[in-house]
Amino acid sequence: MMKGIYLLLISVNKKITVKVGALGTAIFDKGLYVYVGSAQRSLHKRIARHFKRDKRKFWHIDYLLSNDAAEILKVYVKEADKKEECRIAEKINATGIPIKGFGACDCECRSHLFKIGNLSFLRYLQVKELSQ
Ligand SMILES: [Zn+2]
Repeated sequence: MMKGIYLLLISVNKKITVKVGALGTAIFDKGLYVYVGSAQRSLHKRIARHFKRDKRKFWHIDYLLSNDAAEILKVYVKEADKKEECRIAEKINATGIPIKGFGACDCECRSHLFKIGNLSFLRYLQVKELSQ
């Protein structure tokens, strides 16, 4: 059973306002986003869960992905421990626009979700694309 870090490449197809649990209301402009998460038990089960629209909302990302305008385009994975999750988030933070506090309740990161202009992050992160 593989465990590790995953990145979700998400397309938001129009501007949406989403109530993100305790984080409050967040506005998502149309565009590309990348979310960094980790699953220290079953990575594949966690990823499959993200593709289900109908579920009990637990993580911040559940609120975004429950919106019809949000769609997962690609998934990237890396076998690594949980610390790497925040290292990757920090690296993406250098080029992306953080959605403040999103997915970062239990760490010091500004965010684990970023609006991005392109896929340049793939050049400096050692992640591999997961085929669906
Ligand atoms: Zn973090």
